[in-house]
Amino acid sequence: MKLVFASNNAHKLSEMRAIMPAGVDIVSLRDIGFEQEIEETGITLEENSMIKARTVWEFIRHLPSAVSSQIDGIFADDTGLEIDALDGAPGVYTARWYLMNKGAKEAKTDLENFAANRAKALRELAGKDNRQCQFRTVITLIWNQEPESRTQQVEGVVRGQIATEEYGEGGFGYDPVFIPEGYDKTFGELSAEIKNTISHRARALTELVKVLNR
Ligand code: IMP
Repeated sequence: MKLVFASNNAHKLSEMRAIMPAGVDIVSLRDIGFEQEIEETGITLEENSMIKARTVWEFIRHLPSAVSSQIDGIFADDTGLEIDALDGAPGVYTARWYLMNKGAKEAKTDLENFAANRAKALRELAGKDNRQCQFRTVITLIWNQEPESRTQQVEGVVRGQIATEEYGEGGFGYDPVFIPEGYDKTFGELSAEIKNTISHRARALTELVKVLNR
């Protein structure tokens, strides 16, 4: 089975490939020559995940049929950090949360962006006892079949809490400030093997694999 994953993020691609069963070939957007920027205009993770999957599906439908017919499906993911004490914020705005500060300047690199987001999380929760939160990933799968495409959504959640300062340098994004439930270390300190077993993305992928096996 050949599936297109609607991303070029090398980190995510290797996580996906590590979890997918043998026999499922995952290709990236670069592999199929997709070079557009996808605008994530949705106001929920479900919408953004759907927008990404549909945009790529439209592209694939217009490829020469010799290429398109080789592709069984497309899947896209969207992730948000949902903090209980902030009524689920930043949610769909997780990737660029720091820009919601008045006068905030756009970061020049991913690392600067991640650091600014983590600093915002620590600031927003300063002095708060309730630091409970979760990462939630929504994956949309579109089967590339004629005459009708079939769409399915699955999700994966990992509960945890925001640490009081940064710990560890592993992973990416909010990992150094996120302590998953059942552990006393952040994702930044835990090994990639542990993270890939319990993470939101891993859990959503496990659900996706169940759908593929049906
Ligand atoms: P995306 O929808 O997967 O691109 O995720 C949106 C944002 O959530 C990313 O830019 C990261 O800041 C954050 N994020 C997603 N997954 C993780 C993770 O596994 N660890 C830490 N932060 C993450």
